[in-house]
Amino acid sequence: MKVAIIGGGIVGLMAALRLNNKGLDVTIFEAKKCGSGASLKNQGMIHSGSMYTRYHPEIVSMCQEAQSLFEESFAHAKIDCKPNLYYGSRSDISSLTSSWENYMIPYTQVCASDVQDYFLHPKENVYVEVLNESLYSTDRIMGALVSDLLSRDVKIRVDSRIAQIDVKHGKVVGVLDANGQNFEADVVINASGLGTKKLLTSIKSSYVDYVLSRLSTCLVLNNVSLDRVIVSTAFRRCTIAPTADSKIIVIMYGAKQHWVDEGSPLAVVEQELDGTRKAYQEVFSGDIANNSYEENYWCVKTEFTKKEKVDKWMVDPGFSNLDHSIDGVSGLFTCIPGKYTLAFHATANLEALIFGSKNEQLPLPGMQVNSVETIDLIAKTPWS
Ligand SMILES: Cc1cc2nc3c(=O)[nH]c(=O)nc-3n(C[C@H](O)[C@H](O)[C@H](O)COP(=O)(O)OP(=O)(O)OC[C@H]3O[C@@H](n4cnc5c(N)ncnc54)[C@H](O)[C@@H]3O)c2cc1C
Repeated sequence: MKVAIIGGGIVGLMAALRLNNKGLDVTIFEAKKCGSGASLKNQGMIHSGSMYTRYHPEIVSMCQEAQSLFEESFAHAKIDCKPNLYYGSRSDISSLTSSWENYMIPYTQVCASDVQDYFLHPKENVYVEVLNESLYSTDRIMGALVSDLLSRDVKIRVDSRIAQIDVKHGKVVGVLDANGQNFEADVVINASGLGTKKLLTSIKSSYVDYVLSRLSTCLVLNNVSLDRVIVSTAFRRCTIAPTADSKIIVIMYGAKQHWVDEGSPLAVVEQELDGTRKAYQEVFSGDIANNSYEENYWCVKTEFTKKEKVDKWMVDPGFSNLDHSIDGVSGLFTCIPGKYTLAFHATANLEALIFGSKNEQLPLPGMQVNSVETIDLIAKTPWS
């Protein structure tokens, strides 16, 4: 059976591995390079669930499972740093920590004097460390997956944008690329992130209105090292995360959301960047606040906003797999992970959906980190 996967993000790559292991003939079509979408531009945090206990408790246990799954398959990609530090007002932190206790998320209280190297006014906030939340170098994860896929003879076509999903008599028969070249397939998986809505529109899917992509603008501070992720629990304050190569990614929590589609003008929003800059300079001290060398980039988060799970900000960070039989097209599936963290769950569930089975195997089948050269297939991280 031939499978075409549209999109070489974390979901496309993990899905390819699972389906190849079932003996299917898998080809990935990636419009640019693997990881060009959200999967290399995020903050690399494998969420422990701590961010979601209040507004999205339905994903907490999956986040907890994801910690050990990433550890098992991608230990080499883990960034060695101190536990993530959450900061915020007394009331924010106390409502968070009491919900953490319900979910047995381990944390410790941190004194203001212990964080004075990071913060300009350490006494203004309360601080807690989450002990089991990990930070990963997402390019090392993508590199390992691509390398493993190549060694299994999965075909990865980069610079290969899919323009159309071919359907005949209610069944998917393949995909057509932007150069007009056809590729036959019995199963097509749409794992195209920002591209999802456009492809779903082309098959007149009833799911279209629920697929939303939000633009985030991010800053990268160069040549500054940071020994931990620092997470804001207050809106319009910054979350900062170190990367594997002595840079810091800065994102404002609760920044204004701009809804975008493929084809919309995508750009860094200057206003948001100014706000982000101000917010980190007001809160942080030392090299972080005084950094004179920064770059910016944009990144898009795509979610399926099912009515019952969506919160008041129109966010559903959970994963969704859509079987397009409901649209009158069999053999076509769309996978939206919501979070990098949930990629194991999203792709295991996808596999179960395709094969009509109930038993999802969460661990990846026989993933091996090897040394196949992948450099031409993977996007450069936006800050390098
Ligand atoms: C600023 C930011 C920070 C984040 N931080 C975190 C975090 O710390 N932890 C976490 O768990 N999650 C985080 N996320 C969310 C996470 O990054 C995404 O949920 C996840 O990476 C999505 O993976 P994906 O494979 O679905 O999509 P993508 O990685 O976007 O992959 C889709 C791919 O499809 C390709 N494509 C699109 N259209 C076509 C087409 N027509 N033909 C062929 N290819 C196509 C694209 O080029 C792209 O490579 C963050 C997101 C953002 C925006």
